[in-house]
Amino acid sequence: MLQKIKYFLSGIKPLRSFLARIFVIIVLVGSLPSLFLRYGILATYTERAVSLRISDVQTQGRILANHLLTYKYLQDSTSEVINAELSQLAEVYNGRVLIVDQNFKVIKDTYGLSVGKIMISEEIIKCFNGENTTNYDEKNHYIEMTIPISAPVEQTNSDLPGTQQTVQGVILISVSMESNHTTWQLLNRNAVLIELALFILIVGIAGGIAYLVTRPFHHVTSEIQKLQAGHFNEKISVPEYLETERISDAFNELYARIRVLDESRDEFVSNVSHELKTPMASMKVLADSLLMQEDVPAELYREFMVDIADEIDRENKIINDLLSLVKMDKTKADLNISQTDINSLLELILKRLRPIAIKRDVEMTLECIRPVVAEVDEVKLTLAITNLVENAVKYNNEHGWVKVLLDADHQFFTVEVSDSGIGIPEDSMDHIYERFYRVDKSHSREIGGTGLGLAITRSAVLMHRGTIKAVSTVGEGTTFTVKIPLIYVK
Ligand code: ADP
Repeated sequence: MLQKIKYFLSGIKPLRSFLARIFVIIVLVGSLPSLFLRYGILATYTERAVSLRISDVQTQGRILANHLLTYKYLQDSTSEVINAELSQLAEVYNGRVLIVDQNFKVIKDTYGLSVGKIMISEEIIKCFNGENTTNYDEKNHYIEMTIPISAPVEQTNSDLPGTQQTVQGVILISVSMESNHTTWQLLNRNAVLIELALFILIVGIAGGIAYLVTRPFHHVTSEIQKLQAGHFNEKISVPEYLETERISDAFNELYARIRVLDESRDEFVSNVSHELKTPMASMKVLADSLLMQEDVPAELYREFMVDIADEIDRENKIINDLLSLVKMDKTKADLNISQTDINSLLELILKRLRPIAIKRDVEMTLECIRPVVAEVDEVKLTLAITNLVENAVKYNNEHGWVKVLLDADHQFFTVEVSDSGIGIPEDSMDHIYERFYRVDKSHSREIGGTGLGLAITRSAVLMHRGTIKAVSTVGEGTTFTVKIPLIYVK
């Protein structure tokens, strides 16, 4: 039910505004109590007035019933004393008094309309059975009540305790509550006027409070708009509320991240263009120098063409690495997870890289502590480990060694790639995973590096919810440790 009301309210466009909601809540909370108070007080007033009048008239009626018996009015209704008393009673309460005898015959009616008529009603019958009845007619504002005229019965059997009463007639009294109703109306009118004045005051106060309460939120919007318009280019600050402070802090954090992303994208694009331009420039120089010379010997042509082919290979490698990196983009990636034998996977990687290792006279060994089967994307993990082993060979010394070690516990498997190479300086350690970062640019270029290998490796490892760590000593060697969960959790 509450959900339905909420849904209905949120459908009304102005009520989706925080300001409007606060306004409506304050107006309702402020005005409803006075409405209930008015109805409560006036209802109590009517109830109390009616019950007082009833008990009043009942007392008078009982006195009258005694007089009627004393004057034997039921047998002879000519008694002037009683008639005067009845008229007076009717007049005082602005009502009507009827006396009905045992035969249900009306023997007296202060209005003089029903004398001699037979009157049988539920109330009269109840009254003959000894039950007083009272009835308040709210619509016409009068009380109708019956009072029995009871006389004690002559005791024939003296053994019966107490005196028995017998109802000999009924007094039927209608009492007008009109004057009371007039007072009620007067009170109600005054209360409505006060309520109206109060309502106007509450509307004013609610408007003010709603405006003040929501102002900081408008402030947040205007600050963001200013930022968009470029008035301030750093951050927004709305410390009025703890909530607006949190919103501004969260916004600033997000904004800073977007700026960093923006900057790194710009840097990436400029790096990519630079890297792609370098082989192009070399090719241009080689081609131009051939074109400028006449009668170039065939051997020189061949030599230059080999250089140009090398540059094309390099361009190709950069483009392929870039494509791999884009595929590794965490948000776009969908991993092709399958149960993979990691031991065989490593054997295959080492087999593929063996020719390069032999060329550089680097000894390559694989040690598997235990057989490992894990849920991984075979292609992406192969790419990641290949980059590490290839680097270990590339950045090695002659007659050096590369060791690949595979181990696992009940949760993770680790692949350790250590080498006896040139090592990575301390201050470069934080940057090696950055795209296009190379410790020694010319050396890396010489041995065919693009500066994208470790960036690809790190992305692939992170996609597998794994970690990568590097320990290195310049001149001694480097160890990369990759740790990946055996079971892939999305
Ligand atoms: P590259 O294509 O240049 O090898 P990477 O991203 O694979 O690019 O590596 C970044 C840089 O980190 C390399 O240029 C190199 O300077 C350094 N590096 C990576 N692996 C090793 C290693 N095993 N030993 C020494 N230096 C390394």
